[in-house]
Amino acid sequence: MEKWDVVVVGAGPGGSYAAKTAAELGLKTVFFERGRRPGDKNSSGCGLGQRWWRDFPEIMEALQGLPSVRKVEMVVINLVDENNRLRYRCGTTGSDLCANRWPHGMDGISIYRRDLDPFLADLAVKAGAELRTSTLVSDVIMENGQVKGVRTEKGEPVYAQVVIAADGAMSTMARKSGIRNRWGGGCTLVPQLDFSADPDKMDDVIGNAEWVWFGALYGAYQVNFRDGFHIGAGQWLREDWDEKPTDMVKKVLQFPAFQAMCRAIDAKPREYQAHLLPWLKKPPKTYTGGMMLVGDAAGFPCPLEAEGIWHALTSGKIAAETAAWAISRGDTSERALSEYERRWKASPLGKEHEFGPEFVDLWNSTIFDPKLMARQIQLLLEFSMLHPFSVVFDWGDAHMDCFNQHLEHLLDLAPQFADFGRTYLAPLARGIWPKNVKRILLSVKPRIPVLGKLPDNTFLRLVAKLSKSLAPYLDPAVNQEAPLPREVFERSRKG
Ligand SMILES: Cc1cc2nc3c(=O)[nH]c(=O)nc-3n(C[C@H](O)[C@H](O)[C@H](O)COP(=O)(O)OP(=O)(O)OC[C@H]3O[C@@H](n4cnc5c(N)ncnc54)[C@H](O)[C@@H]3O)c2cc1C
Repeated sequence: MEKWDVVVVGAGPGGSYAAKTAAELGLKTVFFERGRRPGDKNSSGCGLGQRWWRDFPEIMEALQGLPSVRKVEMVVINLVDENNRLRYRCGTTGSDLCANRWPHGMDGISIYRRDLDPFLADLAVKAGAELRTSTLVSDVIMENGQVKGVRTEKGEPVYAQVVIAADGAMSTMARKSGIRNRWGGGCTLVPQLDFSADPDKMDDVIGNAEWVWFGALYGAYQVNFRDGFHIGAGQWLREDWDEKPTDMVKKVLQFPAFQAMCRAIDAKPREYQAHLLPWLKKPPKTYTGGMMLVGDAAGFPCPLEAEGIWHALTSGKIAAETAAWAISRGDTSERALSEYERRWKASPLGKEHEFGPEFVDLWNSTIFDPKLMARQIQLLLEFSMLHPFSVVFDWGDAHMDCFNQHLEHLLDLAPQFADFGRTYLAPLARGIWPKNVKRILLSVKPRIPVLGKLPDNTFLRLVAKLSKSLAPYLDPAVNQEAPLPREVFERSRKG
């Protein structure tokens, strides 16, 4: 009978990193992949952001040398109106903070999964884990309500003290073990079209950037690699879903600005794919006796922009460490493995999900609803006229008159902006660090007649008394940097 300390199902980023960590901790580890090679079955490629330099610096350094890598120094945002005309193009920029935050500032990378996944799986093998490819795991072995191992498609039983399920959004392991059934509307389908392109022309035209396209459509992104790029446009799988996945991507293909970009870099369509991606307000339960879920299987992708690979590695690491801890105590029961949930919630991964409901509501009312987006894009375009350069290059009148005309126009639209702000942006305010709220208040204090002369602490106490919603920020006991936990904030609002 085959018996391991840890069996990992799936050799995507989450599974490989869990296997690597478990092997490094001295656990006898095997990991299974249904594809012939890790990365064969996954979406074509991905962008990896700045926090990789903080959390996985050696990996990030080593990835730079792989063939498909393109550096990412900025995001180019394209706003397209209802008639498909490109009306506004701008880029995220780098401040001094960005330059000094990590040794590599705001730099990230884009990389094809055919490079990334085998690289990560190799790290696990080098650490001592055994990789078995072309092996579909089809069931769990349950004894007395606890997972004791897995069964392959050929019926072979493989026993383990702990199973780590890293088998992606469709997770067979989550369903067979009874942790979870369907996602219940929280999963997106992302159709994606990959293009080949001339790498030198991409350097000239695209540069080191990701692109996004916002219009009267599902928000679409363009991830740029060394010698190609893909575009994708997703949507939650809802009951009222009536769009063909390919039609969502086709809308981007119709933009003249997109077509011009394709001509300039000799782009040719290469591969069409459609994948599921969990995009949830809150991850559901992530463990049971003998088993933990990581990465997409657990519903961990970021609720703001669905980045999921950092989340897969981070949860894979925490799961493997929890497995080592539980095995060393001789207790892998459901109760013992609840430690996993405690640990991920206390980590940066848990912090990421603190604002899940607000982020998902925001997208529900914008990029995931093409009808609403037709209106929101117009508001965004109006707002973009406040950009200093837009006003400087309006030569329709004397410059100060132009400015006033734009201001007047925006003031006319203010009720619509206010409505959107009140509903979707104001709830995010509780994420502002208390120390920043105090700094804002103290910077306006000198300008308030009478109150301006009060000592700072008296002034802050008075403001806290006058405004119930500011009270939790101004409580001296509140941690200075962490956003306020939802419960504290809601308790204080209810009084
Ligand atoms: C279109 C698209 C674009 C994305 N872009 C980005 C991005 O730019 N940046 C980013 O950070 N994230 C991105 N994501 C999210 C990211 O791809 C996922 O969050 C990440 O891949 C999750 O890793 P994972 O290891 O949990 O699961 P997966 O990557 O899905 O890996 C699961 C692995 O398990 C294997 N497997 C599944 N079932 C079985 C089984 N029963 N037996 C054996 N093997 C099995 C699969 O073949 C696969 O290799 C994107 C997702 C999609 C769909």
